[in-house]
Amino acid sequence: MNLMIYKQILEELKPYHAQLIAVSKNQSMEDLLQLYQAGQRIFAENRVQNLVERKSLLPSDIEWHLIGHLQKNKVKKIISWVHMIQSIDTFELAAYVNQEAQVCGRILPVLLEVKISSEATKYGFEPESLLKSLTKDPWTDLQNIRIDGLMGMASLSSNSEQIQIEFKQLYNLFIKIKTTIPQLAFMSEVSMGMSGDYPLALKEGSTMVRIGSKLFS
Ligand SMILES: *Cc1c(COP(=O)(O)O)cnc(C)c1O
Repeated sequence: MNLMIYKQILEELKPYHAQLIAVSKNQSMEDLLQLYQAGQRIFAENRVQNLVERKSLLPSDIEWHLIGHLQKNKVKKIISWVHMIQSIDTFELAAYVNQEAQVCGRILPVLLEVKISSEATKYGFEPESLLKSLTKDPWTDLQNIRIDGLMGMASLSSNSEQIQIEFKQLYNLFIKIKTTIPQLAFMSEVSMGMSGDYPLALKEGSTMVRIGSKLFS
């Protein structure tokens, strides 16, 4: 891997005060360690099994984020130490994560995953159904999770206008939730932007970019 690219990405993020989430899926332990030694402390995996394995092999001051679909029966494997779950995609999952976080005596930061892509994607709230759920479902009962913001993935397209529209949609939803739901007025994170589209995501208000392939190229 080339640490010049890491440094360059950090410089690009600076003016936006955005955080770099290093997506370590498919990368070698050697490369992860090199990135750690260069100062990176936030890493993410999209599968629970990989998160568990890598956490056990790497230094303990790394903050691990889950960014992929989470099955209920895997929650217990990560709940006591995961730093953030970015992929809460149903109220039921949120309620279950909340229950297990309570067992651990912690308040877990989470993001709600929203479908913004024009492609058929399996997971995430539809923007309209998220608004409905937030006003109808008993989210305020979930005292052991803290909803810090939203996460989304744009279409894997080279059409930058399309991608920009999708990022705007996520950012606007973030603002709408903050302004219409008083309990969520403090939300501060919009996790959007990957290797191919993060410069656009930053322009549209991203606070966290999740970069994998470019970082380790
Ligand atoms: C893999 C992945 C990323 C990073 O993708 P790259 O194109 O490799 O930067 C970001 N977010 C999610 C949810 C992912 O699964």
